[in-house]
Amino acid sequence: MNDKPRSTANTNNRRGTFQLLSAYIYGDKALLSKATIFLLLATAADVFGPYLGKVFIDDYLMPRNFDTQALVILLCLYLVTQVAAAWLRYKQTMHFTTMALNAVQDIRQRAFKHVLNLPMAYFDHARTGQLVSRITNDTEAIKDLYVQFLSVVMSNLILLVGILIAMALLDLQLMLASALLIPTVVGVIFLYEKFSGPAVQHSRHLRSEINANVSESIAGMSVVQATNQQQRFIGKFDSVNDDYYRARMRTIKVSALLLRPAIDLLSVLVLVAIIWMFGLQVTTGVAEVGVLYAFLNYLGRFTEPLAEVTQRFNLYQQAMVAGDRVHTLIEESEQQYHNTPAQVSEGRLSVSQLNFAYQVDKPVLHDISFSLQPGELYAVVGHTGSGKSTLLSLLLNFYQGNPGAIQLDNQPLESFSHDNLRRGIGLIPQEPFIVAGTLRDNIDMGRGLPESELLRAAQQAHLSDTLAQLPEGLDTLLGEGGTRLSTGQRQQLVIARALAASPRILLLDEATANVDSETEQVIQRALKELHGQVTMIIVAHRLSTIKHADQILVLSHGRIEERGTHKELMGEEKGLYRSMYQLQQQAKRVEMLS
Ligand code: ATP
Ligand code: MG
Repeated sequence: MNDKPRSTANTNNRRGTFQLLSAYIYGDKALLSKATIFLLLATAADVFGPYLGKVFIDDYLMPRNFDTQALVILLCLYLVTQVAAAWLRYKQTMHFTTMALNAVQDIRQRAFKHVLNLPMAYFDHARTGQLVSRITNDTEAIKDLYVQFLSVVMSNLILLVGILIAMALLDLQLMLASALLIPTVVGVIFLYEKFSGPAVQHSRHLRSEINANVSESIAGMSVVQATNQQQRFIGKFDSVNDDYYRARMRTIKVSALLLRPAIDLLSVLVLVAIIWMFGLQVTTGVAEVGVLYAFLNYLGRFTEPLAEVTQRFNLYQQAMVAGDRVHTLIEESEQQYHNTPAQVSEGRLSVSQLNFAYQVDKPVLHDISFSLQPGELYAVVGHTGSGKSTLLSLLLNFYQGNPGAIQLDNQPLESFSHDNLRRGIGLIPQEPFIVAGTLRDNIDMGRGLPESELLRAAQQAHLSDTLAQLPEGLDTLLGEGGTRLSTGQRQQLVIARALAASPRILLLDEATANVDSETEQVIQRALKELHGQVTMIIVAHRLSTIKHADQILVLSHGRIEERGTHKELMGEEKGLYRSMYQLQQQAKRVEMLS
């Protein structure tokens, strides 16, 4: 994942971000039009207040005309407009906030769903914390775009227009003097964009870096503490944290300098200009005090929206950068599956001339060919790094080799839909992954299988005895990572999970590498019982566990060096398998003697 800050904004991506975000603005037209109507009405009510003040001063106060009835009407009108303005503002804020929260909820859902459908290759480079940061913080920042920016900026711009109209009606010259502020503010915003853009981008990158650091340390806590790496991790965290502090300070400095103070200074200058021009009018005898009152009142409200708008540009900047990050994530292409009705019904598997490389110039598998009849058990052995796990990943379609090289029940692997493939092939990985929840959740994994099916799978995995000892049986809660089970039991649970959907093909990647010999025997027995019913490929380091395999494939540097039954391979005088086997037997004897 490219999470580096880009100094030059990628315009294509920015356009995509605009599309992504504006889709939500226009998405709910009814809500948008309601919000806008409330906004217009609120603005009209707001602008009307000072005008009523001007009427009071010029028509009643200055001529000392205290007509009670007219004054009561004026006062009531003033109160009504102000109360109405407050209520309308409330309605408008609620509508915009609803829009924002809907949008964020949807974007977050989309981003998460997308991540779950990304090809496995994506996760070779992705860092958990950074992904989490994109799905949580960045989508949250987008909310500000709607609530803070869109609503505030739109309402202020409309207020600005309303005030300009009211000012023009009162005095065109004074209005023009006030309007001078607008181009100046646009200039300030432009400068702000220019200076703060890269800084904001950098700071958001650092923030996701902080998340990545935290999540990595927590995920690897046992390793961190066991190897006494706390100081190093603290140091690394401190340095990113410091960088983040400095980057934030830079963005805050730019906004603190350019936004509010600049506008305040400019508005004082305009105020001086208006008072001076009004003074000129007084000397020529055309001035009305009420107009000055209304103007000063409007000017106060006029600079406020401008200041608000500029200040919100800060949030706009953050939201756009966050939007970019989410957009880049959403644009990552998902894993493509076909939607043919092909199903794995028998469990016949054939691989012919399969080649694969993770990186273009570093081939990992060369010219792999073998085929299994339904119910056969093949073992794959070989030194570390020889490509055993890679072969299993390809059979699961996590990565793709040359098209058509892998066939299931005489159909190319690519033609299977995601669902049918997962139902047809079960994987038992080396590291059992347990989700926080009950045993039932962990075996079922959301497939809604009947209880009898779950119990059958548990029995096949020889998990029934463990289950009987638990007071709540299938409904026993397991902690995150299955902390209430031993490693062996976790492995059995994962086997039960794979068996629960009655797959026709089962792939095991060193499923017994981490368990004691007693549990290993239990697992071996379970696998033996399945032999003949389910097609199995077992990757194993301990060669004594796969002696009964129908065929053993010996991988070396991504090629099949030898193949045959245990007996046949042991007959090869200088065979790789034979030497590996003998080495392991010797090691075992030495272990027993010592
Ligand atoms: P082990 O017995 O240690 O599990 P293995 O036979 O399963 O080893 P693989 O995991 O298949 O070996 O790796 C085969 C080669 O591919 C190795 O050289 C490894 O460095 C490389 N490799 C594995 N996964 C990736 C990946 N995601 N991206 C790039 N290279 C990879
Ligand atoms: Mg492996």
